[in-house]
Amino acid sequence: MRKFAETCEQIAGTTKKLVKTALVADYLKSCGVDESAISAVFLSGQPFPVWEETTLQVGGRSLWQIVAELAGKSSSELAGEYRRHGDLGAVAGEVLPKRNGQGLGVLEAESMFRQIAAARGAAAKVGLVRELLSRATPLEAKYIVKIMTGDLRIGLKESLVEEAIGKAYDAAPSDVQRANMLLGDIGETLRFAAARRLGEARMRMFHPLGFMLASPIESAGEGLSYFPEAAVEDKYDGVRAQAHISNGEVKIFSRTRDEITESFPEIPEALAGLRREAILDGEIVAWEYPAEIEMTKEILDGAVSPADRHKAVNLGRARPFSVLQQRLGRKKVSEKMLREIPVAYLVFDVLYADGELTIDCALKKRARILDELLAERDSRPRGYRTIQSQPKLAFEDEQTSVAGSIIRAPVFRAASPEQLDELFLAAQARGNEGLMIKNLDSTYSPGKRGKSWLKMKRELATLDVVVTAVEYGHGKRIKVLSDYTFAVWNGDRLVNIGKAYSGLTDADIREKTQWFLEHTIEDQEFRLIVEPKIVIEVAFNNMMKSERHDSGYALRFPRIVRLRPDKSAEEADTIERVAEIYARQK
Ligand code: AMP
Repeated sequence: MRKFAETCEQIAGTTKKLVKTALVADYLKSCGVDESAISAVFLSGQPFPVWEETTLQVGGRSLWQIVAELAGKSSSELAGEYRRHGDLGAVAGEVLPKRNGQGLGVLEAESMFRQIAAARGAAAKVGLVRELLSRATPLEAKYIVKIMTGDLRIGLKESLVEEAIGKAYDAAPSDVQRANMLLGDIGETLRFAAARRLGEARMRMFHPLGFMLASPIESAGEGLSYFPEAAVEDKYDGVRAQAHISNGEVKIFSRTRDEITESFPEIPEALAGLRREAILDGEIVAWEYPAEIEMTKEILDGAVSPADRHKAVNLGRARPFSVLQQRLGRKKVSEKMLREIPVAYLVFDVLYADGELTIDCALKKRARILDELLAERDSRPRGYRTIQSQPKLAFEDEQTSVAGSIIRAPVFRAASPEQLDELFLAAQARGNEGLMIKNLDSTYSPGKRGKSWLKMKRELATLDVVVTAVEYGHGKRIKVLSDYTFAVWNGDRLVNIGKAYSGLTDADIREKTQWFLEHTIEDQEFRLIVEPKIVIEVAFNNMMKSERHDSGYALRFPRIVRLRPDKSAEEADTIERVAEIYARQK
């Protein structure tokens, strides 16, 4: 790890992207392929490749205590160091004692990470982390801790590592990027590049692909300004989900690419009826099935007269996100939960079908493939059927299908801003967040936020921010951490922008209090600095320039709209978006 850590120091020392990629490329070329492949993963700030489910499960607090113990420092001495560096890795590099030994190899570090992930129980994990850090030199430990906390903070994004791989092995950056997108593993991508076989990298079932993301728009006019032909869908307020289906086996992945199949047992059951291998993209929402849906089954079974069939077209509607939240993060879902909070998978895209990757097809074509896939479901054994819906909900072949908990998200068309505004109001009336406006000629770009997908939301001025510090509340909230200070990204640094009393439910606040206590980095008595991992959405009335927070901005009447457990801290908003909102408001 010595060479790795020294390279990281050099990378941190420059802001020039070209110099950063050159440094990484030189480093990668100087190592054997195994070492380079693992280093590529580490350089992306992760102990393991993205697609893997493996996690270390070592809390910030434990790491903090181990560093303090190995350095022979008290917690408050360490807190002083932390205030100077703002990063536990940098603190470790500063305070850990020098060693005479050889230090630690990259392969050894990876093998220790795997042992830590596999260890059961906090004590076993702590023992292994202690061993890992005591074998490393202080500089190596600095970067080991940074990898463990998931961020190197040296201004190196995965896209730069991709560029560096291209440079090191003489490959086109676009080929490296595509292979990494398909494999979800930058280390494996490097191996393909080193063997000059990038073209052979194939998508693998049950390895999640990146999700295509949307850019916010501020008006209906803007919504129709980027492309000539738009598909318009409701923006459902649930969790994004990518479903992989192969031979009756189904796995569902969240936006952070974690597997969430167990939380939604009714969905795999319904999807297993697909006849072809496929990867679908959609949103899981808590769903209110109207009485008519029950009737649909009866109609299809011949129990209801054809005259009543028109009533069966109502698909039901989404319930608020707070309802769905009760079903999130559970390994076992009780019968009662399944009955009281049924969910539906609103499918809006297809990334792979029947041996063919469809991400390079235009949305127009993908929509047709998706309609066909859902229509030909082998539904009989499970009792799921396809029904015709109102033509105005239709996409091209005028069909929207419902099957158990799988629903093809209805697609609309809008030719003018007025029509888009109408659809927006109708979506809100159905209880949805707003609209998604998609370019019918666009391909699916995994992991990219561009102008091919646009989102039009209820609150135009909301920000997704990261909680950086928490305080105890007042009155009945005196025992819970209910006042949150939050931040946005300025480059790779988080800068505070505001503080709000939590508008969350008591149950959420209690649960989060526990989390914050377990993930406190520094206890300032009246206020706890916490690991910057929790993302919340805040709404506000307007924005001011202000010296109160280090972002240089402050929010007027900030209020917490909700938790965003589906977003990682890296996905929070940036200072550029803040500046944009500020400029617009003026
Ligand atoms: P946001 O989370 O505010 O950045 O908005 C983007 C998210 O909206 C996506 O990641 C999806 O989870 C969600 N979403 C809801 N409905 C749709 C839809 N019809 N198409 C695409 N994304 C949707």
